[in-house]
Amino acid sequence: MSSVATAQSAPPPLVALTEDEVLFRDTVRQFAQETVQPHVREMDEKGVFEPSLIRQFFELGLMGIEVPEQYGGGSGSFFEAILAVEELSAVDASAGVIVDVQNTLVNNALMRWTTEDQKKRYLPRMCSDTVGAYALSEAGSGSDAFALQCRAELKGEEYVLNGQKLWITNGKEAGVFILMATVDPSAGYKGITAFIVEKAFPGFTVGKKEDKLGIRASSTCELILEDCRVPKANVLGEIGKGYKIAIETLNEGRIGIGAQMIGLARGAWGHAVKYAQERKQFGKTIAEFQGIQFQIAQMATEIEAARMLLYNCARMKDAGMNFVKEAAMTKLYCSQVAERVASLCVEIYGGYGFTKDYPVEKYFRDSKIGKIYEGTSNMQLATIAKLVMGK
Ligand SMILES: Cc1cc2nc3c(=O)[nH]c(=O)nc-3n(C[C@H](O)[C@H](O)[C@H](O)COP(=O)(O)OP(=O)(O)OC[C@H]3O[C@@H](n4cnc5c(N)ncnc54)[C@H](O)[C@@H]3O)c2cc1C
Repeated sequence: MSSVATAQSAPPPLVALTEDEVLFRDTVRQFAQETVQPHVREMDEKGVFEPSLIRQFFELGLMGIEVPEQYGGGSGSFFEAILAVEELSAVDASAGVIVDVQNTLVNNALMRWTTEDQKKRYLPRMCSDTVGAYALSEAGSGSDAFALQCRAELKGEEYVLNGQKLWITNGKEAGVFILMATVDPSAGYKGITAFIVEKAFPGFTVGKKEDKLGIRASSTCELILEDCRVPKANVLGEIGKGYKIAIETLNEGRIGIGAQMIGLARGAWGHAVKYAQERKQFGKTIAEFQGIQFQIAQMATEIEAARMLLYNCARMKDAGMNFVKEAAMTKLYCSQVAERVASLCVEIYGGYGFTKDYPVEKYFRDSKIGKIYEGTSNMQLATIAKLVMGK
């Protein structure tokens, strides 16, 4: 019997989107180009994200894509969340990461690990007006995340949290934080517990905002917990299972960072192609030189290959398959492609690419973060090595 699938029974190609997905993607693309784009330069210069855009993210349903309709969300797929992050990041990677953290980290954790009471209390807010943040890292614990020091002690009906978190994306805008602290430092990673912390809780302060190389409009903040009182009812999942929540949400989050990086690469590439067709040297457009054509072709090929990894991984997640290895590969490779592509796009612009009057230098600066957050490239390689070597 032939093992070759017939045209009718063949699975769709990885890049094939459903009609609904195309409609969704095109809507976000148009919004990004028409509404986000005009703010990009000023937001980057000021290091502040335009609040009216965040309101529009909520209105468009971009802040609760997968959340079931009964809690006010769009009942969409993880794949749609990935499309949204890609489209926004093609215009502005800061816009992309705000929507990414909300959907792939915060909402995912809230949908997966909460009680029904917590779902009812938090999910409608996440879909309508509340930005979320995900607080794991500390000054002394980054790659070694489970060395965290933030302490939670049960006192009556409340946990009292003390410590500091660092590098928290959306820190300035967020109203709700998924925050990891240990209830028992002697238990090592088995003491780590996840809490739903609200900005308004007593003892909670947002500290210094980082002044960054890239994704400057995305706020990255320190959080300070000084006898911060969190009701027992706000423990997320089981006591001592915060490490599992952290690992599993970050596995999904990594796919989102892949989407951010692919959007960014595509955005930079699009600008460079247009510029190459306009800029004239030696009496012709630089796009007529084979040297430039080959660079454009190479970048297009790498973006396409990275997108295949990304889309396949997102489809695996929606299909309920194990995607840990593929998520690490996606983040690793998409961030490498984004950095290479954005760098080459600066070169295609020549001297102009090195100035802030043209868009590509920002894409280059923004690309750098892809190799750092949600696990550095070395940590992705460590995960991949462990899984491919069967350890
Ligand atoms: C803009 C930005 C936004 C962020 N947003 C968030 C957020 O929302 N929430 C959050 O919790 N965190 C966030 N982070 C933190 C981020 O996840 C960490 O910075 C990252 O995990 C790396 O940790 P680190 O900075 O402490 O570097 P380190 O862990 O100190 O790593 C330094 C270097 O050593 C390497 N290294 C470390 N250990 C090993 C090893 N075992 N083998 C090989 N190499 C190794 C790393 O790859 C890296 O190159 C953010 C960071 C930034 C910069």
